[in-house]
Amino acid sequence: MKTNKTETSSPHFKEKESHIKEAKQSYMSIELSDKINNLLPSATLAMAAKARELKAQGEDIISLSLGEPDFNIPEFVKEAGIKAIQEDYHAYPPVSGFVELKQAIVEKLKRDNNLDYNLNQIVISTGAKQALSNLAWALLNPGDEVILPCPYWVSYKDISKLVGAVPVEIKTTIDTNFKITAEQLEAAITPKTKMLVYSSPCNPSGSIYSKEELRALADVIKKHPQIVVVSDEIYEHINYTGKPHTSMAQFEDLHDQVVVVNGVSKAFSMTGWRIGYMATSEKIANACTKNQGQVTSGANVIAQRASITALKAPVSKIQYMIDEFAERRTLILKLLSEIKGFKCGEPEGAFYVFPNISHFFGKTIKGVQINNATDFAMFLLSEAKVATVTGEAFGNPNCIRLSYAASRKEIEEAISRIKKVLN
Ligand code: PMP
Repeated sequence: MKTNKTETSSPHFKEKESHIKEAKQSYMSIELSDKINNLLPSATLAMAAKARELKAQGEDIISLSLGEPDFNIPEFVKEAGIKAIQEDYHAYPPVSGFVELKQAIVEKLKRDNNLDYNLNQIVISTGAKQALSNLAWALLNPGDEVILPCPYWVSYKDISKLVGAVPVEIKTTIDTNFKITAEQLEAAITPKTKMLVYSSPCNPSGSIYSKEELRALADVIKKHPQIVVVSDEIYEHINYTGKPHTSMAQFEDLHDQVVVVNGVSKAFSMTGWRIGYMATSEKIANACTKNQGQVTSGANVIAQRASITALKAPVSKIQYMIDEFAERRTLILKLLSEIKGFKCGEPEGAFYVFPNISHFFGKTIKGVQINNATDFAMFLLSEAKVATVTGEAFGNPNCIRLSYAASRKEIEEAISRIKKVLN
């Protein structure tokens, strides 16, 4: 807005200016909480923001950094959302979610996972992320230890830290397909251990624990009844093994110690609709509902109604997305195998590859010194114009994560650019 000279010299303008100055000073003297100062911004969202910023400046960036399907929401789910608006769903929902959605979840857990839950054991949240946050607030005291097999999904660590708990990382390498063993789990447990959090299929590695591997971990957990296992199953359908998805909650002797976390973001490409859920004991469900009641009052009603239709649908309705991810996985693995210095495992699920790129550490490429995975990801962004995410964000400093939730054309172009700048 333009101001003329008479305006700036008027007493009213001067008074307004001094108010603004005072307000700015008091704003400067406000201290943020220690908790928020210690919290890291989500690295995946930060990289996506950086890529968007560069795109806005006219740079031709290809983003392989984000964890969201690039498909539209299936038509039948969109229609259910429109119908919910037309049917005037607008009031606050029950805090833990609509009964009809809980019923659809109970049926889905039986149909897809052979798991038995009742309505009181389901809590619907604003994304699986809020389910994880609810669990942290409901279960963790300051000083409690949370075991995180590395690489882990970015938010597990920071959500734990936000409530004052202590993350305990178990390191893995590409040689074991980034999976922990029962011995490693046993060695990480102390009297302060309260929780184990993992995803299978895993973001970022794409690894899937087999039933036998989960059973071996379950045998360790069983000896420690104070530990709650948070089994994040949000990628359950994006599974290329040809074997059914396995949940630790399926082991009857461990059922009550396991919380299943899931949602509609990945399976139905509904990331922005923000619906996730947990299945757990009534005690934990009630505690999470109490927390949610003070924080959000429950998840968005339109998205909940649409999710009823989504979750009632058989998996065959979303198979086209899974098939496309499978094709892209084959494509990206082939293309990456042609780049010297990229060591890729064979991800069995989700839509990420997590190559070890430590070959490049200590090297100077195009005048840029690469000392770690973060340097390498920044180098790819500035030189190849491809956004990826540093493995450091997931607790593995030797890798980077590339998402193949992008078109085949984008994948081909991105990997060809990467190849070119490294040659
Ligand atoms: N868990 C994992 C492993 C994820 O990758 C994500 C999303 N990137 C979430 C949870 C959060 O999902 P939502 O969109 O339901 O909050």
